[in-house]
Amino acid sequence: MSYTPEAAARLRAYVAYFRDLGVHEFYRWSEPAPQTQQTSAVIEQPVPSAPVPTPVPVAAATAPEIDDREPQPAQMLPPELREPPIPKLYSFDELVPLPTTTVPAADRAAAMKLIQDEIGDCTRCPLAYGGRRKIVFADGDPNATLMFVGEGPGADEDAQGLPFVGKAGQLLNNMITAMGIKREQVYIANIVKCRPPANRTPEYVEATTCSQFLIKQIDVVQPKVIVALGSTAATYLLGRKQALAGLRGTWHTARGAKVAVTYHPAFLLRDPRMKGEAWKDLQMVMRELGLKPPAKQ
Ligand code: URA
Repeated sequence: MSYTPEAAARLRAYVAYFRDLGVHEFYRWSEPAPQTQQTSAVIEQPVPSAPVPTPVPVAAATAPEIDDREPQPAQMLPPELREPPIPKLYSFDELVPLPTTTVPAADRAAAMKLIQDEIGDCTRCPLAYGGRRKIVFADGDPNATLMFVGEGPGADEDAQGLPFVGKAGQLLNNMITAMGIKREQVYIANIVKCRPPANRTPEYVEATTCSQFLIKQIDVVQPKVIVALGSTAATYLLGRKQALAGLRGTWHTARGAKVAVTYHPAFLLRDPRMKGEAWKDLQMVMRELGLKPPAKQ
């Protein structure tokens, strides 16, 4: 099947929208009906001059046949929009045994420095060669009770070496403020620490290679609550690839913390109608942490 550039762009945006929602598989139930010239002429010209349609024979008006063949995942997508298959996923709890000790609060900044030193000028995965400028380690308080985990740095983060400092970061800051706390009071990190080329979704090998460091960071902070921002964060933290709709609104666990799943701020920028839903997720977190929204000025 070939697409016009406009149709391809629309399809890309459509697929990206559903991937943001954590919907990854697309199905084709049957071959698309061939578009005959006659059909499109009828669609384009439903004007009075159109010929009176011939009555449909009764036999043809019976219920359409149900296609009960197994759907073929992603077959309708052009190859460049298909996701590479994900080998077996492991949750952060399955990858490394849970910590049995706690890093004393006073030592946490130094413990983070050790992790950062271990990462060094990392070349462990292909993102090292994908044009990254800075490795984006994290931002915030290593003694935080609340941690946010995003997907990976974008252009602004790559330039500044800090997570969530672009437009999505501004929205995240607003979300944090609405929860009655300050950005400096939370800890913010990403599944991958290097910007994927053209902001594509990190691939399995990149996410799993980088996870070892995020696990160490979580184990140092030992937050009470982690908020997974978007599908990629939820997928790798929980080791489950599932639509966000099925993951939101309930608690999950990772590294001894309670995990809430919500929409990625970049998705909320594209579809602000979903902000109310994200706010419900944050309110669940606020109840857990005893946070109150700031008093109205
Ligand atoms: N999106 C992310 O997932 N992380 C960032 O740091 C910035 C944008």
